[in-house]
Amino acid sequence: MLRALLLAPPGAGKGTQGERLAQVYGVPHLATGDLLRHHVAEATALGREAKGYMDRGELVPDRLVVDMVSDRIAGAQQLAGFVLDGFPRTLTQARQSYEWGRAKGRTFHAVISLQVPEDELVRRLVERGRSSGRTDDNEETIRNRLAVYAEHTEPLLDFYRGREILLEVDGTGTVPEVTARIGGALLPLAFP
Ligand code: AMP
Repeated sequence: MLRALLLAPPGAGKGTQGERLAQVYGVPHLATGDLLRHHVAEATALGREAKGYMDRGELVPDRLVVDMVSDRIAGAQQLAGFVLDGFPRTLTQARQSYEWGRAKGRTFHAVISLQVPEDELVRRLVERGRSSGRTDDNEETIRNRLAVYAEHTEPLLDFYRGREILLEVDGTGTVPEVTARIGGALLPLAFP
């Protein structure tokens, strides 16, 4: 079963492609942004703590996110396969998830980096903001989220390149075109 994650800036298509990949490979799609928005909507303790960071386009502190994700993928009902989207986003999260994976013989098979030019990202996010109702899809927060990505998340590309599981995929074009490119990049990989 496939264990993959999508590593890309906001607006690159992680959510859309994550859902399609999960369907094709028959594994759950876990999007930390969606899980967190659910906590905010339900006003749980985690949601109340996370909301301010999300509204400002900042990262929710590692300890909160790591506990939420590790419960899902390494907890009592461990998942053998998954497509993760939006996690890990910091080196601390990447190192911790590598440790859980190694301890359970379940490290990631592939990290898919979607490459989209910045002006196209901003265009897509502004457009999504008009219809999604996401409070963080406004121009100021978008700019902050892109800066946060460059500072905290982009360094993970080297982390996974060093582990030889990074797949770099062109994220421009139509949704099916990008899905086909990801499928092509995953093809040579073995995952039982
Ligand atoms: P997303 O839907 O992936 O764009 O995530 C929306 C927001 O949720 C982000 O801007 C962060 O505030 C928060 N978030 C999602 N995933 C993480 C993560 N792995 N670490 C920290 N914050 C996160």
